[in-house]
Amino acid sequence: MAKIKIIHDVEACIGCGACASVCPDNWEMKGAKSKPKKTEVADIGCNQEAADVCPVQCIKIKKA
Ligand code: SF4
Repeated sequence: MAKIKIIHDVEACIGCGACASVCPDNWEMKGAKSKPKKTEVADIGCNQEAADVCPVQCIKIKKA
């Protein structure tokens, strides 16, 4: 199965928490920023919603 890469631009992240709220399966808050639990997944799951909801578009999804 193709791997999907989740790329998080930590510098750009403003720590709004939107990704963790729409996609708690893979996103959590760590201090002032969010963090993906996994950066490679087999199934995109809610990561697309996390990327879509991010106000600074610092979540990128790369399908291998
Ligand atoms: S939605 Fe974007 S800016 Fe907000 S915490 Fe998540 S990655 Fe950071």
